[in-house]
Amino acid sequence: MMDQREELVEKLCNQGYIRTEKVKKAMLNVPREEFMPPEIRAYAYLDRPLPIGKGQTISAPHMVAIIAEKLKLNEGMNILEIGTGFGYNAAVVSEIIGISGHVYTIERIPSLARKAKENLKKTGHNHQVTVIIGDGTLGYPEKAPFDRIYGTASAPKIPQPLKKQLKIGGNLIIPMGSENYFQELVSVQRISEDEFKSKDLGGVAFVPMIGEYGWPED
Ligand code: SAM
Repeated sequence: MMDQREELVEKLCNQGYIRTEKVKKAMLNVPREEFMPPEIRAYAYLDRPLPIGKGQTISAPHMVAIIAEKLKLNEGMNILEIGTGFGYNAAVVSEIIGISGHVYTIERIPSLARKAKENLKKTGHNHQVTVIIGDGTLGYPEKAPFDRIYGTASAPKIPQPLKKQLKIGGNLIIPMGSENYFQELVSVQRISEDEFKSKDLGGVAFVPMIGEYGWPED
């Protein structure tokens, strides 16, 4: 599968999704097939979101690349991810921030979180990624403040707790908009204690972020 991974990464570079050597290296290092159900592993290197059960998906590789590039990650960063899924995106981010950094990732569906833990252990990313079961819209105050926070599910508006848990100078990236797969990826920078600057990064399609500061559960 390594050949297919190399081909996909090359394609993402040519399409301009991967722009830096560190994102390229991280996506070459993480075996996407280990982060999906066995019955669909043959499709691991298609640039598509794929179903992982419970109505959820593993994000498309180009989306993982876009988020990793836009976050402007550096070694040693303290990161919070909302929406672990099966753990792929967190593994890619952890490769970039290295052993001096850490990714805390929150998943609201316990069976997905358990599977993510297993997957991350298998690929050896478990030392740098901690999976937490819970409502990610509340953030993770125990390990705040964070250099970067990103969401892989879309919220109706930016959850207040996440803004509060961002370091000054830090960045938050989250899909925002309608519940039905038409959203904008929004980047918010914390300028000072209570000053934030936001910009749109373009249209995206994500599953809804369900929680106290997200969409209500049906
Ligand atoms: N990061 C994943 C990957 O690597 O492919 C993407 C997973 S999927 C697109 C988004 C995930 O967000 C789903 O697993 C969903 O259960 C989860 N989710 C939705 N609302 C959440 C919330 N409030 N807190 C934590 N997880 C949430």
